[in-house]
Amino acid sequence: MTTYKVGKVLHYINGKFVEGVAGKSFENINPFNNEVINEVAEGFAEDIDLAVKAAKKAFDDGPWGTMSVDERMKYILRIAALIEENAEEIAYLESLDTGLPISQTKKQASRAAENFRFYAQMVKSRMVGEAYKVDGDFINYTIYKPIGVAGLITPWNTPFMLETWKVAPALATGNTVVLKPAEWSPLTANKLAEIIHEAGLPEGVFNIVHGFGETAGESLVRHSDVRLISFTGETTTGAEIIKNSADTLKKTSMELGGKSPAIIFADADLEKALDAVVWGVFSLNGERCTANSRLFLEKSIYDSFVERLKERVQNISVGDPLDSSTELGPLIHKKHWETVLNYIEIAKKEGAEVFSGNVPQSLKNGNFVPPTLLLNCHNGMKVAQEEIFGPVMAVIPFETEEEVIKMANDVKYGLAAYVWTNNLKLGHRIVQSIESGMAWVNSQNVRDLRIPFGGTKYSGIGREGGHYSFDFYTEVQVIHVAIGDHHIPQFGKSKKAETISAQQ
Ligand code: NAD
Repeated sequence: MTTYKVGKVLHYINGKFVEGVAGKSFENINPFNNEVINEVAEGFAEDIDLAVKAAKKAFDDGPWGTMSVDERMKYILRIAALIEENAEEIAYLESLDTGLPISQTKKQASRAAENFRFYAQMVKSRMVGEAYKVDGDFINYTIYKPIGVAGLITPWNTPFMLETWKVAPALATGNTVVLKPAEWSPLTANKLAEIIHEAGLPEGVFNIVHGFGETAGESLVRHSDVRLISFTGETTTGAEIIKNSADTLKKTSMELGGKSPAIIFADADLEKALDAVVWGVFSLNGERCTANSRLFLEKSIYDSFVERLKERVQNISVGDPLDSSTELGPLIHKKHWETVLNYIEIAKKEGAEVFSGNVPQSLKNGNFVPPTLLLNCHNGMKVAQEEIFGPVMAVIPFETEEEVIKMANDVKYGLAAYVWTNNLKLGHRIVQSIESGMAWVNSQNVRDLRIPFGGTKYSGIGREGGHYSFDFYTEVQVIHVAIGDHHIPQFGKSKKAETISAQQ
């Protein structure tokens, strides 16, 4: 495999790669061996201020907002083409930085290019207003306008895909952007800046400030010239961001944590269900917001299905994320690794039977957690309620439809749900009863870019994706045009007339 050189990562502000004002930097660690990959410029409020000023100037005075849609979309399509040209390097950097297996990061690189292509098409074909004829008096019509400086804050799981998922609609609709990527995964965000630089976007339209959440992230959220914040990350961080954005009345979109159920009935296609749930929790190293981290099995198939799960878990190929045969790589960071291992200990204390696959001894320097099943759980356990965000699945038996719906909903999250049955009526009934933003029947998580993405309860507020992103990244303005001779109240007119006549 080709390896790529990784140098110091700098901020990208006003069309230039720059050091931070304070001149500080932090180390970026390789999850495979815990060695330093490179240094990253560390941003603070001063750097955020420079980036926001550049983005505001580009929005207020620059050509971005005023150029024709066709011209703007040429830039968006150029970014998509450059992502495709650089897909191999992007996948390599992502796997090196996050520990995600390269076979999976390659798919995400192409998905990222699609995000830009898709929004170029959507803006041209679907960013349309409405018109109302109000009797013979008025025409009312609506237009969508970009809002201004968009603050985008992203997590470390699938960083490149999630960054492009926000950057593409924000730019395509005419906003300017300041992106604060996750501190544990800066490499592909930097590559995106290089690509956007090469695509020749006007200065200040796209900016990145690297750094930590409590400093760089919070300054972006509090900045008075940032009009909206799109955030993906943990629920507690989302709550903090909503509070901190209140004083400056920002629009916020929250894509947060999950603890999604997969429910398998005895009549389902069990082979397919097995493939889907194993993939659903162990792909992306289990660091997937929509992972089916709670598996509900109908009691009559519990034992046989668990046996099949155990076989799969033992065979999952755990290894170097840069090896194309690896299915499960190391977790992003030592701290997160400790958190996930701690949950496995909690599961034991709570009385679950812990069944784990194997991690070769040669991988001992990396943040590896074996694929793990927590068997014979009940829904009240901490490990069945809290987001573990690793390759760990709690397995719970159920007997009736009512019972499983109750358990599936008895959790604070509501992101995704998966139901497996060949009974059409039952399938629809169950998914419609589940409190989740998204649900799949007889399928793993497959998503067309046109549909809304997001969660309910503690999993988020709002939807992005498809034309739903327009609701977030644009402001709708209504224009009322009089076309007839409608009545206008004549305040003051009649009294004046009376006074004049009294004086006469
Ligand atoms: P995190 O909340 O710790 O960090 C996410 C981002 O927020 C980072 O860039 C971080 O620096 C920044 N941040 C932290 N504190 C901040 C603050 N006070 N103000 C502003 N910014 C701040 O999340 P993470 O650990 O990077 O990501 C994992 C989480 O993301 C999981 O809970 C997962 O479920 C969730 N996630 C959700 C979705 C979804 O679409 N619903 C998708 C992917 C990940």
